[in-house]
Amino acid sequence: MARTKFSNKIKKSTTKTSLGPKLRGLSQQLITALVIFMVLTWGYSLLQKSKVIQTIPLSEFATLVNQKQITSIEVEGDNVTAIKIDKSTIASKKETNTSVVNTLLAYGVSTSTLASTKITVKNDTGLAFWGSIIPFVLPIVFLGFMIWWLARGIKGANMQALSFGQSRAKIIHPDDVKEKITFRDVAGAKEAKEELAEIVEFLRAPKKFIDIGAQIPKGVLLMGAPGTGKTMLARAVAGEAGVPFFHLSGSEFEEMFVGVGASRVRDLFDMAKKSVPAIIFIDEIDAVGRTRSPSLGGQGEGREQTLNQILVEMDGFEPTINLIVMAATNRPDVLDQALLRPGRFDRRITLDLPDRNDRESILSVHIKKKPLAEDVNLKVIAERTPGFSGADLSSLMNEAAILAAREERTSVAQFDLIRSIEKVMLGPERKSHILTPAEKKITAYHEAGHALVASCLPDADPVHKISIIARGHAGGYTLKLPLDERRLMSRATFLDDIAMSLGGYVAEKEIFGDITTGPSNDLQVATAMARAMVTKYGMSELGPMALVPEGEQRTVFYNKEYSEAFGEKIDAEVKRIMDEAWQRAHNIILEKRNVLDVIAVELMRVENIEREEFEKLLLTNGIIPKRKKEEELISL
Ligand code: ADP
Ligand code: ZN
Repeated sequence: MARTKFSNKIKKSTTKTSLGPKLRGLSQQLITALVIFMVLTWGYSLLQKSKVIQTIPLSEFATLVNQKQITSIEVEGDNVTAIKIDKSTIASKKETNTSVVNTLLAYGVSTSTLASTKITVKNDTGLAFWGSIIPFVLPIVFLGFMIWWLARGIKGANMQALSFGQSRAKIIHPDDVKEKITFRDVAGAKEAKEELAEIVEFLRAPKKFIDIGAQIPKGVLLMGAPGTGKTMLARAVAGEAGVPFFHLSGSEFEEMFVGVGASRVRDLFDMAKKSVPAIIFIDEIDAVGRTRSPSLGGQGEGREQTLNQILVEMDGFEPTINLIVMAATNRPDVLDQALLRPGRFDRRITLDLPDRNDRESILSVHIKKKPLAEDVNLKVIAERTPGFSGADLSSLMNEAAILAAREERTSVAQFDLIRSIEKVMLGPERKSHILTPAEKKITAYHEAGHALVASCLPDADPVHKISIIARGHAGGYTLKLPLDERRLMSRATFLDDIAMSLGGYVAEKEIFGDITTGPSNDLQVATAMARAMVTKYGMSELGPMALVPEGEQRTVFYNKEYSEAFGEKIDAEVKRIMDEAWQRAHNIILEKRNVLDVIAVELMRVENIEREEFEKLLLTNGIIPKRKKEEELISL
């Protein structure tokens, strides 16, 4: 059985790797090395080239010409290069102001010999100059370039390091139509909207408040279970007021580097202050704003700095500045008291799980873009989804649309919505999870046990569905829903619930004489309920006493507020409650053994029993099903 709803949401975490800049740096170094290597080889080859050419004195050169060993001469400034008959090149130097011809004549080379030798004169002495200088200058230029380049890279890396401190806030600009949300998009939550309307007012027209000397709140804390629309409401405030919305999650302050949190806070506030009027929204503020506990040692130091910085920033800006800091948490009990002081988050707004009417209106908000079949009745869906948050309802709608699309239908039917309730509540069906006939029988009797006990106890919720098809973690389940919206649990309801939880255990024991691991979760749930009755709600013989401090998170550190001897009394009391519940469940199962068989056999046959069929089964076996007042009238 899985009547407990698991709402532990898997927190999406984005891991930001620092590999990017590193890789870039690596390739940069590689290119640098390559370029240096190329320059060096080039310079070396130039050097080599100049070495190969043999330089000889002018006199020797003249002799060679005379001997007709030279085929052509090239003059470039004072440099004379010549090609010999054997194709080798020789070089020489002439005086600056005389021509080669004159020089050679002066060395006694005959005019006829000169005439047969090809002489070309390249007049550009400048080029020669460059030619000689480039091999030396170029590497220097390249080296300079390299240094500049590397320096640039390092600077880039510095910038990267700097940006770790910059806030990672996501910003929604007021003119961003696609992202804009207004109060109309948030269904229900009437009181919260009324409270926040004042903040909108202030952001829009601060003057009238300031003129009259009114203190405007700086910080608004939204408290409520996950998915109750805290983020949505904060965004709606920004949307209504038409101001930019800076959004950052508490867990994003400290990512990889301890100590960046504080500077991120600073950046976030600086950024927001530049664009007032504005809203800063810090989601999951409990991630940084937990009570500073000395027993944790140095562990939470970065977090503490972040928290301190938030406090400093909130104290730092004038109340006349048009900046509102909003924060959300589902654990207000663990928040540091410093955050809640006047001038900080002194406005607190609680968001409850939506009641039936609100659920219906949330459903209709989410239905907007989906074509509906005519049979859809959102009221019924709202009735069947107590305990669902806005986010749950939104995903229910989505699941239904997916189901319809997968079955090639163009509109969402009531049937899709109903199936989606269970999917959202318990996870997807695991049809592939095939039970052996023996397991099937055990599961059927187990669930039948729950259902029968629930139907016979006056204060247990009526059964809505029984199933032996595995779903999520549960092998089978008995779905029970309260007749009416319930805000308070009575002692009688607790006791019946505990007995109902033990129904599966008792049935297994009675029928098979043995227990499987199946009821382990039932036992946990039942025991936790019994313990809470004793230690939290004063619903036991021990009398009105709260024996555990608020907030389960602190249980690791809190000092027990009672003696060992008293602890034994608590345990004995829990045991007594459990035993009595077991006794009641046992009596029912023994007394109505025939009905148990009927339910179990039917379950093995059809695998799912809906409320209507189940009630028929009960009636034919002499048990009157529980009905709401108005339902009773109808059925009469
Ligand atoms: P929280 O910040 O409290 O965890 P969110 O504001 O992120 O919850 O809500 C999650 C989703 O649930 C929203 O995107 C929206 O689709 C849906 N939702 C929650 N509350 C409402 C509501 N009152 N009206 C319409 N949709 C809602
Ligand atoms: Zn069970």
